[in-house]
Amino acid sequence: MRTGLCGTCAHQRLVPARRATYSMCRLAAEDPRFPRYPPLPVMRCAGYAPAAPPEGTRTR
Ligand code: SF4
Repeated sequence: MRTGLCGTCAHQRLVPARRATYSMCRLAAEDPRFPRYPPLPVMRCAGYAPAAPPEGTRTR
């Protein structure tokens, strides 16, 4: 899935369905500027927040 920024954003939630997996923005629940299911790929977003790296990985 080519999601752009959403793919590395802390606010993204992947919603599996029968035929596809949808990228949901959790910010939509508290801020009407953000659509619940934004058109992908998202290239710019005021709400973007980098997700923490998975447990056990280190970056320098
Ligand atoms: S805040 Fe922006 S980048 Fe993050 S999941 Fe929502 S739409 Fe995508």
